This record gives sequence, C-alpha cells and structure tokens, in this order.
Amino acid sequence: MQHITILGATGSIGVSTLDVLARHPDKYALHALTAHSKVDALAAQCVQFRPRRAVVGSAAAAARLEEILRAHQVPCAISYGEAALCEVAAEADTVMAAIVGAAGLAPTLAAARAGRKILLANKEALVLSGQLFIDLVERHGATLLPIDSEHNAIFQSLPLSYGRSPARAGVAKIVLTASGGPFLKRAVDTLEQVTPDEACKHPNWAMGRKISVDSATMMNKGLEVIEAHWLFGAAAEQIEVVIHPQSVIHSMVSYVDGSVLAQLGNPDMRTPIAHALAFPERIESGVAQLDLTTMAALQFDKPDVKRFPCLALAFAALRAGGTAPALLNAANEVAVDAFLQQRIGFRDIDRVIARVMDDNGHGPASSLDAVLTQDAVARRAAHTIIDGICR
Ligand code: NAD
Ligand code: MG
Repeated sequence: MQHITILGATGSIGVSTLDVLARHPDKYALHALTAHSKVDALAAQCVQFRPRRAVVGSAAAAARLEEILRAHQVPCAISYGEAALCEVAAEADTVMAAIVGAAGLAPTLAAARAGRKILLANKEALVLSGQLFIDLVERHGATLLPIDSEHNAIFQSLPLSYGRSPARAGVAKIVLTASGGPFLKRAVDTLEQVTPDEACKHPNWAMGRKISVDSATMMNKGLEVIEAHWLFGAAAEQIEVVIHPQSVIHSMVSYVDGSVLAQLGNPDMRTPIAHALAFPERIESGVAQLDLTTMAALQFDKPDVKRFPCLALAFAALRAGGTAPALLNAANEVAVDAFLQQRIGFRDIDRVIARVMDDNGHGPASSLDAVLTQDAVARRAAHTIIDGICR
C-alpha cells in the first residue's frame, strides 16, 4: 500500500489525482490532503477519501474544516501553514506536488529531503530552485517523476537508464509540443483587449486559472523549457518548441540516428498521473483509448515569438542562468495575478516581466536563500511597475 499526500488537492491536478486513486483503493491510501482556502471542497474530499491529515492556509480555515468534519464524524488531524505542509510532504511515501506557483516550493523540497517519491506538477518550484532541487533529490535518494504532460511524455520516450545526459543516451533534441492556447489565431493587435475569461478558455485542457493564462501567453511553454532543462539535463539549444494544436502528441525525443520517439494520448492529465503513480507498472486511469482514425490531421508549426514574447523571455532567462529564472517566474506570477484581477491588460503581462528582467540583475543560484531573495526582489519590482500602469 502506497501512502500518498496530495499538496493542492482541491486544484485541477489534485482532483484528477483523486479520481485516479479512487479507481485503485487496493493500491493507494491517503496520508494527507491540503488546500489553501477552499475549505468546503477540501472537507468534501476528506469525507469521501478519509486522509489521516488535512492542511489548510490559515487558523480560520482550520477551525472551519474542524467544524465540518466533526459534524460528519470524520476523524482527521487538521493543521495549517507552511510547516504543516512540509510535515505531511515528508511523512508520505509519495507526494503529488500540485500547489500552484512558488508557494509549493518548501513542501516539495521537504519531500525531496525526506527521500520520497515526488510526482511533480508544480513546475514553478523547479524553475525557481533548479539545480538546488535536483541536488536535494540526488543527495537524499528521492525519486522525481514528471506530471506535466510534456515532460511525462519525454520521460516515457527516454530509456529507463537515462541519467540526465542527452549525449550518453544519443539524444539530439527534446521536442516540446504546445497547443498554442486560445490565441493562436487571434489577430495580434486585438490581444490588448482580451479578458481573463477568454484567456482561461483553453481549447484542449481544463486547468487552474494561473496555468491557463500561462498557456495563453505561452509562458507555460517557457517555464516548461526550463523545467525540461533541469529534468533531462538538456541545454537551451537542445530544446525545441513546436506548435501542435491538437494536443495528441504530448512531446517527443529526437535521437542522433534520426529516430523520433513520441508519446500520444487524449489530452487528459489522468494519464500522466496514473503513469507516475504506478511507475514502472501501468494502471487504468479512466482516460478513453485514443482513436486516431477519428482525427482529421495532426499539425505542426513553428511558434511566433512576436505573438508570444513570453516564450522568448523564458529562453533568455534559461540562457542567462543563475537566478534569472527565479526573476522570470516571480514577475510572471505577480503579473498574471494582476491580469486575473483585471488590474492590467493581457499584453502588460509580457511587458511587466521584460521590465523586471531588464531592471534587475541576477546572480548565481548558489543557495535557496539566494533564489528566494531574487524571488522577493522580482515580486516587489513587478508590483511597483503594475502600480504605475494602474495609476
Ligand atoms: P489550481 O489553481 O487548480 O490548484 C492549485 C492548488 O494549490 C489548490 O489546491 C490550492 O488550494 C493550492 N494553493 C494555491 N495557493 C496556495 C498557497 N499559497 N499555499 C498552499 N496551497 C496553495 O492549479 P492546477 O491547474 O491544479 O495546477 C497546479 C500545478 O500543476 C501548477 O504548478 C501547474 O502549472 C501544474 N500543472 C497543471 C496542469 C493542469 O492540467 N491543471 C498541467 C500541468 C502542470
Ligand atoms: Mg504542460
């Protein structure tokens, strides 16, 4: 029996994970579920799935959860705050890291320090901490399995013995596919006016609002390029982004002999979740089998960086190295939040990030303190720029 903690249980990935777990009660038991503020949703999950522990974001949320679970006579140890998130991450056999943004960093690293199996959806944590994260995983014998559909596809297309060395495995290129999001065809000069709801309407995937906006700007793909760099040891030049609007090929690995290996499937996160949960075995995920004969065509195109400047900003941050990705990620989180609150326009997102990157130097990512300081500097700078735009 594997004991699982789901960090971010009430989110899109958290809910999909519970859906897969519910199909295999003989294999998995829940250690803990966590949520930030959606207490009612978390309470319903606790009633159904009976975790030993639940963690929320505040004392008030904990009190409310306690009250609901007492009324349902559901035994569950309830706590709140970052230290409790780190505890439940360190205690489980397997941790689904599905908190959105840098808020997920500390508990994900706690799972690494405890040598756990980490199913990584929270790409921002890896973008922010890079080599420091990889070092912790290696030092403590943790297992890191990608949940992001692209990286899960690449993982499945690499040899089992792959040791983060493209050259040794004969890998020429990692090819990340991108749907292009909701604005792939929209006239570029109308992008200033798009609303949060339009930006969150992804053609192929149902996801949380932050990653949906990231998909619309293609910052999501930019973060994924940096994620691929750390997961697979590939240099920026060895990572290519290809627009593939159907989201059927989830990514590919191109080998020196001319072979290209890909993983295909319906766009449903339960496939990579089930793959990582059961790895190296396979379990049923609830996802329908892919029917290729019903597809008209699979298309591929080069991304247009004029339409998607965030993609170029992310490649620049990866090439700059050090704490530059921490700057990029933090500026993006603040800008996306301001866009979702309708404080700035859609195109202001890339302008804010570019200005934060231009105005603030970066240094070596020599310690967690160094990256967290850079993260804080970028957040302050982004808030100042946004206040200027709103005035
Ligand atoms: P979501 O917004 O639906 O859910 C986020 C979860 O994180 C919620 O449970 C929320 O309670 C929790 N959370 C938010 N802020 C928090 C904080 N400050 N402290 C503690 N918990 C907090 O997001 P999502 O779409 O499920 O995405 C989660 C992560 O997975 C993101 O990093 C995203 O990039 C990645 N991811 C998502 C998908 C997808 O299909 N949704 C695909 C690939 C990768
Ligand atoms: Mg992805």
